[in-house]
Amino acid sequence: MAKKPRSVPFEQIAQQVAGAPSVSAPFDLRAPGGRGYRLLENNVSPERVRDIGRDGVPLGWDACGCGGDCGYRWYSAEQVSRAAAAATPESGRSGRLVGRFVLLRSDEGDSLLLAHHPARWGTLLE
Ligand SMILES: [Zn+2]
Repeated sequence: MAKKPRSVPFEQIAQQVAGAPSVSAPFDLRAPGGRGYRLLENNVSPERVRDIGRDGVPLGWDACGCGGDCGYRWYSAEQVSRAAAAATPESGRSGRLVGRFVLLRSDEGDSLLLAHHPARWGTLLE
């Protein structure tokens, strides 16, 4: 995944000048490999998930619907890109479980998707 160069926001410079403590909160999730991600959107529409996925974004699948406590099954950016080319994902409902899609972003600007059971995306989420 290509990293886009980022300029330093004015607020960050102002904080450094003022010697203020960093506002960085702990990461919401660590993906395999250790990169940290922060929650961006908690309930992304299936159509947007497909659009985001087309660009090739890795995805973590919470296959049991516990919210990821027992871990995610990981799909590569290539697998997600192929799924997005073939189908729009669907979120469902099963008992008290409501499926949803979540978007996270790293401080470097890379996106990460999470899918919480019950959800389907062609043959990707099984
Ligand atoms: Zn679980």
